[in-house]
Amino acid sequence: MYRRKFIQNIALLALISPFIKLNASTNKRIVVVGAGIVGTSIAYELSNLGIKTILIDKYKAGSGTSNSSFNWINATYPKKPYSYNYLAQLGIKAFKDIQNELNYDIQWNGSLEWVNSKKSQKELIDEVKKLMQYQTFTKHKIINYKKANILENKLDFRNNINIVYSEEDGVIETNEFIRLLIDRIHFNGSKVLEECEFESIKYTNNTISSIITSKGEIAADQIVFACGIDTNKILNKKLLKSPEPGIIIKSKPYKKIINKIIYGPGIHLYQQNDGRVIIGEQGLLEKNDTNKFLDYPSQFDSKSMQNKYVNKIINVGKTFFNDIKSLDIDEVKIGWRPIPLDEKPIIGRLNYDKNIYIATMHSGITLGPIVGKLVAKELTQNKELSILDSFRPGRFL
Ligand SMILES: Cc1cc2nc3c(=O)[nH]c(=O)nc-3n(C[C@H](O)[C@H](O)[C@H](O)COP(=O)(O)OP(=O)(O)OC[C@H]3O[C@@H](n4cnc5c(N)ncnc54)[C@H](O)[C@@H]3O)c2cc1C
Repeated sequence: MYRRKFIQNIALLALISPFIKLNASTNKRIVVVGAGIVGTSIAYELSNLGIKTILIDKYKAGSGTSNSSFNWINATYPKKPYSYNYLAQLGIKAFKDIQNELNYDIQWNGSLEWVNSKKSQKELIDEVKKLMQYQTFTKHKIINYKKANILENKLDFRNNINIVYSEEDGVIETNEFIRLLIDRIHFNGSKVLEECEFESIKYTNNTISSIITSKGEIAADQIVFACGIDTNKILNKKLLKSPEPGIIIKSKPYKKIINKIIYGPGIHLYQQNDGRVIIGEQGLLEKNDTNKFLDYPSQFDSKSMQNKYVNKIINVGKTFFNDIKSLDIDEVKIGWRPIPLDEKPIIGRLNYDKNIYIATMHSGITLGPIVGKLVAKELTQNKELSILDSFRPGRFL
């Protein structure tokens, strides 16, 4: 037990000691704006390196998109090209490391994905085969319905012979995860200010000296904007498309029935350790309805519209998961995806002010911890890591 802890600590010291020295000499004050999974992960890694960090959020930490995500950690075929997929693979590895650091239990269930139509099925398998030609990829297998039914005996795979089994995928409870990071940030002596809205940057002699917030001025040498869907507004630039909505349903605890992350035709779902089933949908929201949403609400404003979509989701789901009809629905949320113009992460300093750093992306759950580590390294070592070359904001600015 002691020996294990000792080895863990040695490994940790080896990782952080050079940065502590570096920080002592540069003594930078860094403010991270946005306490979703991305900003909180960055602030956590900075605080681990002994950097005086202040993390602020205009609302409660974790109340943005990270609060209404499907929470799936994966490096599956839609993440392409290789540079993006590789970052996601490192994302899985980073979660494996951080789960030990935080003593946090991640459900590494693996996922099953299939589609109904023959044409889409062929496209799916072609995409997965392309993934399998990368130099590295997470463990994937194509299995038939008989094997899939051994893994999931309550699902109807309809004699499908091409089901994609991605074995290394996991899920987290993102809010709980963010809270744990915040506890550690406090423990490391850094600060988290909630309900503190970034308003503007103050310059002294052409260099950033502070930011102005709704709660007053905060001294800063460098600013990291991890503001999700608010990135365009904050920078007054177009880096992201209009946010894309998705519905997330959480059931009340139900008997254990699902083992894996299920990406079935039309909806996706998994069951948490506490028995709750989490369900997401693929393109069920109608344009007519989404056009009515102003200010990206996290809930439907009428019960009737909410019921309409819950029923739609149940009708789609019952075609392969009959138990969906027996679930008691506890919560229905609308999440808004931050989607960069080319759908790849945006991570790096601005060309016109190197003391401003941007980190915004879809797949922010998968990428949060690895982005936290890499960004903290770039900020403290004042260098650019080549692994992030494809994701720089300069491609849009
Ligand atoms: C339905 C749905 C399903 C998804 N499923 C997955 C999935 O399975 N796997 C996956 O990897 N990703 C998934 N995503 C995407 C993922 O959830 C996001 O990429 C991720 O949550 C973004 O995190 P973030 O920290 O960048 O943004 P957020 O969580 O939105 O955090 C940004 C924060 O910035 C704050 N902020 C904004 N402006 C200011 C300001 N002026 N001052 C102070 N604070 C400010 C906001 O209040 C907010 O808390 C999904 C998204 C949706 C909507």
